[in-house]
Amino acid sequence: MRLASLGSGSKGNATLVQADDTLVLVDCGFTVKETLARLARRGLPADSLSAILVTHEHGDHVRGAGALARKTGCPVYSTFGTACAVRDKPAGFRNANWQEVRPGREFQVGALEVLPVLVPHDAREPCQYRFSWQGRTAGVLTDLGSITPHVVDAYGECDALVLECNHDRRMLEGGPYPVSLKRRVGGMLGHLSNDQAAALLRQTNVDRLQHLVLSHLSEQNNTTLLAQDAIEQVMTCGRERIGVASQTEGFDWLQIH
Ligand SMILES: [Zn+2]
Ligand SMILES: [Zn+2]
Repeated sequence: MRLASLGSGSKGNATLVQADDTLVLVDCGFTVKETLARLARRGLPADSLSAILVTHEHGDHVRGAGALARKTGCPVYSTFGTACAVRDKPAGFRNANWQEVRPGREFQVGALEVLPVLVPHDAREPCQYRFSWQGRTAGVLTDLGSITPHVVDAYGECDALVLECNHDRRMLEGGPYPVSLKRRVGGMLGHLSNDQAAALLRQTNVDRLQHLVLSHLSEQNNTTLLAQDAIEQVMTCGRERIGVASQTEGFDWLQIH
């Protein structure tokens, strides 16, 4: 199993998970044209996708999802709430092969076993995804405002983890956002701060992690160094095993052994 990203941040997110011939795109927060260009940069044609899995209806996750599913014919998976939230929008799944996922109920996409995990975020029915293949587990966990016991359970034993480090709390507080947006981002249904991400890792088996990728970093309210500093304190490995996903490039393939 391996993981890569086409880009991560508030302008668009798309993560790739592959096992055997199964290639899944988690979120499609870029236009179809942009997504196809970013796939092509990794040598992947549009028809190589087995499925698109959408986490929630925010534009940076769903922007091109419906259109890409229609264009490629591959199924698009989401919760019922997410599908309802985009029903009459261009990003919606009308005329696409939409499949409902239910948080907590595992399902199979080709070689991959997928667990949708309910998360606290300001969307209709947001979930994140955990993947299993031949005893190996990879987690994608972004867009949540707080850590729940359920999230710790689901992501506590991962071999690879793509984890949100959205903001540094002090930068957010002192930064340029209007007060209402600061409250939203820093609130229980907003985004994980560096400190919250570190607190989550403290409750997980970090010795098992072959790869940790910090993702969904805010360009306004965070820096790569601040995120790395916060996370490094709770990791037993060195900084070289902690990757950072960028908005423009995402991150290159990481192989899980
Ligand atoms: Zn997001
Ligand atoms: Zn979101």
